[in-house]
Amino acid sequence: TVDWQGKHVTVAGLGVSGIPAARALHERGALVTVVNDGDDERARAQAAELEALGITVRLGDGATLPPSTELVVTAPGWQPDKPLFLAAAEAGVPVWGDVELAWRLRGDNGKKAAPWLAVTGTNGKTTTVRMLASILEAAGLRTAAVGNIGVSLLDAVLGDTEYDVLAVELSSYQLHWAPSLRAHSAAVLNLAPDHLDWHGSMEAYAADKGRVYEGNTVACVYNVADPATEDLVREADVEEGCRAIGFTLGAPGPSQLGVVDGILVDRAFVANRQKQAQELAEVSDVDPPAPHNIANALAAAALARAFGVEPAAVRDGLRAFRPDAHRIEHVADIGEVAYVDDSKATNTHATEASLAAYDSIVWIAGGLAKGATFDELVIGAAKRLRGVVLMGADRALIHEALTRHAPEVPVVDLDRTDTGAMSEAVARAAELARPGDTVLLAPACASMDMFTNYNKRGEAFADAVRARADESA
Ligand code: ADP
Repeated sequence: TVDWQGKHVTVAGLGVSGIPAARALHERGALVTVVNDGDDERARAQAAELEALGITVRLGDGATLPPSTELVVTAPGWQPDKPLFLAAAEAGVPVWGDVELAWRLRGDNGKKAAPWLAVTGTNGKTTTVRMLASILEAAGLRTAAVGNIGVSLLDAVLGDTEYDVLAVELSSYQLHWAPSLRAHSAAVLNLAPDHLDWHGSMEAYAADKGRVYEGNTVACVYNVADPATEDLVREADVEEGCRAIGFTLGAPGPSQLGVVDGILVDRAFVANRQKQAQELAEVSDVDPPAPHNIANALAAAALARAFGVEPAAVRDGLRAFRPDAHRIEHVADIGEVAYVDDSKATNTHATEASLAAYDSIVWIAGGLAKGATFDELVIGAAKRLRGVVLMGADRALIHEALTRHAPEVPVVDLDRTDTGAMSEAVARAAELARPGDTVLLAPACASMDMFTNYNKRGEAFADAVRARADESA
């Protein structure tokens, strides 16, 4: 543990991670200075609250490192090539992210330091962590799904609630700034290009994801279908006896979990003399039972089994799990057409998974492409597309890919980037749909050209669908 008394700590960034970090360090006797790029009304209000406690805040200058700094604690989103970090590197000052801080502070309030089961990957993190928490709860363990949604890491570590184990979602940014984190066991779900502007390259992105395996004690869980995740296990420095455990949608090999005849089975954590695979749950116990989501369930099951959870609790936990809003969420059936909201599909990798989950689709897509290309996505989905409705700033990129690879599929290009476009999109999609089809909002793009965030985009879709459902009722 660190002696914080009188230590000069610079916290980079006000906001959801910076403010609680500044408070926690101040309470422990550190001399805290918060530096923040922005200097707007909101930042001033937040600064005033911290200053009232005796914390120094510098607004409008997130670049200069205060000379006495002994440690920088940064918001995870701050890019590593910022001048502040270059100055810190030059001065030999360590930089910790919010995860590193939580890791270092765990147990320092007299509470038991619960082990972490960690999940990262390009897509499926939140879902998998929530499935895992559901399984751990079904096993009677005191736990929480921690990370992007629900409880923040720092709250989980410093709050009064006692935990036996935490199910922790970690982003590549957070892992970048978490050098000493050592999870009990960890999973990398998949690796596809995302956030490359931040990390600088696919190699750097993969390396940051791979940190999650460093120092694991029981299991490094990887995706058999995504060899890059297995490579990361191979490169990781783990504790002696820690095993590589694969998950696959096919029949599992030894040390793997997989699927046989619609049953999720475990061939990794079976007692030595007991040769046959252990049945865990049925595919139909997973909501929704789409392939990518079965993969998430297997990863969650692997981590739970690594922690010693019994098969029956895996089944009960998966049965109790319900997906979050805007993640392949069934909104309504109108006529014989299903309307599904996957607004959270903000990149092509996620969209590929949701397009693979349905046979005949009217696809609503478009938004901010973030540098993505759409050819592979369109080639993979072309046969299942009844029609496509496009909107948003970068819709032309998707339209061009459709023209190249699926010229026979009807495309409605709304040529709109206003919020109201969503209800027109739903109306046009309804015209294209035939009985048995699925109208799927899976934008393959970020939402900020039209909406505040993906939640708002999904709500706009759901509102438009419900309005139609009411009319037709
Ligand atoms: P994350 O927390 O990593 O963003 P979520 O669980 O919130 O992931 O899911 C985000 C979106 O990614 C979902 O809406 C779905 O479209 C897609 N998705 C979920 N799991 C997977 C997976 N295992 N592989 C590919 N795409 C996935």
